Amino acid sequence: MTAFTIAFDEADPADVDRLGGKGSGLARMTRQGLRVPPGYVIGTDACRAYLGASSLPDGLVDEVRGRLAALESTAGKTFGGGPVPLLLSVRSGAPISMPGMMDTILNLGLDRAAAVALAEATGDSRFVADVVARFHAMYAETVLDALDPGEGVDALVAAVDPGEDPGAVYDRIWAACEETLLGESVPADPREQLVGAIEAVFRSWNTRRARTYRDFHGIPHDLGTAVVVQSMVFGNLSDDSGSGVVFTRNPVTGEPGLFGEYLAHSQGEDVVAGTRTPDPVAEALAPDVLAELRATCDGLERAQGDVLDIEFTVERGTLYLLQVRSAKRTPEAAVRIAADLVAEGLAAPAAALRGVSAEQVRQVQRPGFADADVARARAEGRVLTTGIGACPGQVSGVLVLDPDRAGERAAAGEDVVLARTVTSPADLHGMIAAQGIVTATGGSTSHAAVVARALGTTCVVGAGALRVDETARTLHVDGRTLHEGDEVSLDGSTGELFAGRFAVSTPAAATGALGDLLAMASDGAGAEVLARVTLPSDVSDARDAGASGLVTAIDDVLVATGHLDGLVSHLLADDGATALDGVADLVATEFAPLLAAAGDVEIGVRAIDLVADEARELLQQTALTTRHPELTVPLGRPALVEAQLRGLERAAGAARVHLAVRHLTDAAEAAALRELGTGSPVGVGAYVTGPRAAFAAKEIAAAGDVLWVEVRTLQAAVFGIPARHLLTAEPLDGYVRRGLLSCDPRVALDPAVEDLLVRVAAAQDAGCRVGMRLSGRVSEQMVAQLYALGFRRFAVDVGEVRPVRLALGKAALQ
Ligand code: ADP
Ligand code: MG
Repeated sequence: MTAFTIAFDEADPADVDRLGGKGSGLARMTRQGLRVPPGYVIGTDACRAYLGASSLPDGLVDEVRGRLAALESTAGKTFGGGPVPLLLSVRSGAPISMPGMMDTILNLGLDRAAAVALAEATGDSRFVADVVARFHAMYAETVLDALDPGEGVDALVAAVDPGEDPGAVYDRIWAACEETLLGESVPADPREQLVGAIEAVFRSWNTRRARTYRDFHGIPHDLGTAVVVQSMVFGNLSDDSGSGVVFTRNPVTGEPGLFGEYLAHSQGEDVVAGTRTPDPVAEALAPDVLAELRATCDGLERAQGDVLDIEFTVERGTLYLLQVRSAKRTPEAAVRIAADLVAEGLAAPAAALRGVSAEQVRQVQRPGFADADVARARAEGRVLTTGIGACPGQVSGVLVLDPDRAGERAAAGEDVVLARTVTSPADLHGMIAAQGIVTATGGSTSHAAVVARALGTTCVVGAGALRVDETARTLHVDGRTLHEGDEVSLDGSTGELFAGRFAVSTPAAATGALGDLLAMASDGAGAEVLARVTLPSDVSDARDAGASGLVTAIDDVLVATGHLDGLVSHLLADDGATALDGVADLVATEFAPLLAAAGDVEIGVRAIDLVADEARELLQQTALTTRHPELTVPLGRPALVEAQLRGLERAAGAARVHLAVRHLTDAAEAAALRELGTGSPVGVGAYVTGPRAAFAAKEIAAAGDVLWVEVRTLQAAVFGIPARHLLTAEPLDGYVRRGLLSCDPRVALDPAVEDLLVRVAAAQDAGCRVGMRLSGRVSEQMVAQLYALGFRRFAVDVGEVRPVRLALGKAALQ
């Protein structure tokens, strides 16, 4: 007889899929002996059945009747009558939290007899009028889809005398409420109300806002919601009653201690409605209630090993618990809480790490805008335009339209945002000086994007609405005009350019909590994380982030120091037969500062690659590869590799350096490279960029000191799409949404690539250091997959070192 429903005290709290989050939490608190008003859950299976058939499944109404009788006898109250009437709340609760997305109806079960009995039991007719009006409004809104009745009814309720005849009060208020409905009517029979409310909660699963929320958060549409039917308690009964919400720790900062609000003489929805301002719990609650709430929260936190968000109501001085769930928290709070929970022995490292995402680590480690400021700016129309985010970061500064002036103003101590129609190598000094770069044209591999990523400078490209007038020194955007020197702000992730300045927060990375958490993650993972650096000043950032080594690329260093054209002229001047001493000199000079900064840390250097997307963008003006086609194959000009080795050797100092060449695919190439490196203290190795190289990994590794796999390039090669598609939202977002790719190569390793990587993993035995090069923003899922394949060495952008350390720790402790 209990196919669809289960009482709080019978349910297994672990069965969240069936009970929903709310039902599961209530079952758990009931089991722990906390004071939860009795009730039961209608499982999600009933909702799925209802939505499938558009009618209540057979037997559900009978079950609900049976549960009602049981509730009446446990509570010693009567549904729809006296001496003490039973009133119910009918609440929605999905397996995955969707706060505020679905419906709840309170105070259900009132007809005239029940209203009179309630007035007699409480001695307060105005209270009853309030409850009647609240019920009617909620039922009308959620079940009948009618509008809020407005102030008229409120005034009538306020005018009721507590000692007035309750029958007359009920009649007057009910009639006034009904009048606000056009043509429709709220049923007076409590049993009918109950069935109507249950159906309405089922239906609320499919409202437009609920569907939109699920689309946005990737929640499946076929889960359905559970319905919680629960005996009411009344926070609006008296002055020593009220309702509130409390977090077991501060969800903004993570600081320990109760954090919450309480509104005396109110029902739960009043706190959220914002019409009255609630008070801090510590001030507003009676001391004994506060003490009980503290003890309860401590106990719940200890039992669940997590920070919780708890809804409660006080009825005449007695505390009742109405909901518990994992608290939503800011990234700062998430980090602090995870570290504290482990330190306090409330959570094991694995569980604590699970409570923090790589994205949250990204957000706390870099200075950035406050979310609320950004939201306000958007609402105020301060977004000037949105382009393509090319290098993440959030910066505010003065708008400058010319690279020379950018250099000057930066030298004078100003933060500069450089806006250009397009950038060229001649702009480099201005780009280095700027905090942010925005261009009107270009995609994610344009000159501006490539240089910005090499420099780690916040950058937005392709902001097509921008019109730069260099002579007038103005910037036009959709009818607005900005002048050089105006303040603007740039977000390199969302691609937004804002008018005006934002306050920029100090990164929380400096605080101990993140360090503690990541140390825990790294201990668990036992992996090496190397950081990609370009400028000597990047080295200390890498070290602070916990990198155990460094990687860099010759072309990036030459771009950042402004000497790529030097390389090009040496190569153009060369007839193909000389030793390229000029290139060796250039490398020696430009690498000396970086390698000195590196000290005795391992540093991997990628050899010049003249066929990469990036190089083509940077070298588009030159006829280099047309004139020298041999430069487009990895060892086409052995002298170029030798010159790089010689240059690095001269610059190396104490640094442990290796040079790795891209696009090798053959054991014979690897052997030839070994030959070129013979006698040099600089190690040699290969970058795997395609399937053939992965297939031959063992042979290639055997001839080298290191082997790197460029995971993004390899995935793109296997998919047969340009690697740059893996750096941007489109075109793949749309494609994945249409269901045309079972694996999103930006997020997960494709099974075909996994097969290849199994071969690469086997090459680790050969005494060659095998590592994964992950470019751009790293996906936690991909890190976990690579870890599971046995890889323990990773090279990532400096800003990704901490997120990846976290992801590795999670993967290891899973
Ligand atoms: P939501 O999922 O939107 O938080 P709830 O189902 O939690 O909706 O209900 C909203 C509010 O109604 C709760 O904060 C609580 O204060 C109040 N409420 C729900 N059930 C009861 C009850 N049995 N007694 C008193 N108040 C209740
Ligand atoms: Mg709630």
